[in-house]
Amino acid sequence: MKAFSYYAPTEIVFGAGRVKEVGEITARYGKKAMLVTVPEFPAVAELYANVKKSLTDAGVAWVHYDGVIPNPTTDLVTKGADIAKAEHVDVMIGLGGGSSMDTAKAIAVEATHPGTAWDYNCHTDGPTEKTLPIIAISTTAGTGSQTTPCAVITKTSDKDKSAIWHKNIFPKVAIVDPEVTLSLPKSVTAQTGFDAFCHNFEAYLSVNTNPLVECMALDAIRIVAEYLPKVLEDGSDLEARSKMAWADTLGGLTNASAGVTLPHGLGMQIGGHCPHVTHGQALAVFYPAFTRYTYAAAEQKFAAVGRIFDPALEQESDAVAAEKSCEAIDNFLKKIGLWISLKDLNVTKEDIREIADCGQVLGDYANNPRVATIPEMYDLLMSCYERT
Ligand code: NAD
Repeated sequence: MKAFSYYAPTEIVFGAGRVKEVGEITARYGKKAMLVTVPEFPAVAELYANVKKSLTDAGVAWVHYDGVIPNPTTDLVTKGADIAKAEHVDVMIGLGGGSSMDTAKAIAVEATHPGTAWDYNCHTDGPTEKTLPIIAISTTAGTGSQTTPCAVITKTSDKDKSAIWHKNIFPKVAIVDPEVTLSLPKSVTAQTGFDAFCHNFEAYLSVNTNPLVECMALDAIRIVAEYLPKVLEDGSDLEARSKMAWADTLGGLTNASAGVTLPHGLGMQIGGHCPHVTHGQALAVFYPAFTRYTYAAAEQKFAAVGRIFDPALEQESDAVAAEKSCEAIDNFLKKIGLWISLKDLNVTKEDIREIADCGQVLGDYANNPRVATIPEMYDLLMSCYERT
């Protein structure tokens, strides 16, 4: 067996109703918290009030920065960091989807280091231990950010979506309370649920994978295959929501350890160039091209995953099952309402040229079992322009 290391320092507090423990948990790390969220809307009003009450009851002072937008930008991180510094905040709480958790992580860096959070991204040595402690509370079930050393941010002026990737931004605690995902609309449930599948599948395929990741990833893929359709049928099914929250958390752990591959490398560029496209949509649109490009280089693994989505493939050889897994994954995308094209997402052919040209800026593409060149990336993206 290949040598490997596994490092996952985040405490995971999992279970329905456990968000009410946030005050007591936060008090272990600081006296004044910054709560980082999207602006309040009816579905989350009670959650925000409960979190604030829990903090107050535990004697933790708080300020609420509610300026997060999907695909968060460096500007909104700087605005939050200025407030964190002025208010002498000593602990960060990201409450929301990946956008809110990542903004909290980036503010934790910018509030404690010279320059901006962008200066500590994955192309640098990264932030130091001065980074404020981070508590992550996930309200979507997809990014796994609650258990990753990753904060994805976009530098709008450069159309560059990149990430801080460093052990010092692992959340101290991940609070994973499936009850807070009950209010997720169907579209966000589908997009984020597919992201959870992608983290696990890509970490499983990654050239940097390890046996622990392989176990966790396969289990998570089985969960997504069974429970994402269920939760889309009935969003109030707490058991199905719980399963998805767990698959999401596993996706954070597998991504943190083995990384992701080509779809994430290009998906990040799609989001950087076209910020109206969500992360889940960027992945879904590219998957049919990715599976067909890659399956022959990882036959056993594509066969194993194909058999999860289509048990009839148990009867087939690995070679046949791997090839047919592409169609099985297409069918899953259709089932969850994500059979989409770049044209549907208002991504132009000019955008595709720019996206492909940036396809090797992030290292994810190199983790793929078959490594794509820029011209190949362009052709793969062009094949996603329209769907029949
Ligand atoms: P998001 O955080 O952008 O949220 C999407 C929408 O869902 C928002 O409008 C939000 O208001 C709404 N929402 C969230 N929770 C809700 C709830 N419980 N009820 C009702 N509405 C709710 O979406 P996301 O997909 O979770 O995060 C995407 C971001 O995370 C992207 O920037 C992506 O690149 C990044 N990401 C980060 C990591 C990581 O490890 N840090 C991994 C993957 C993706």
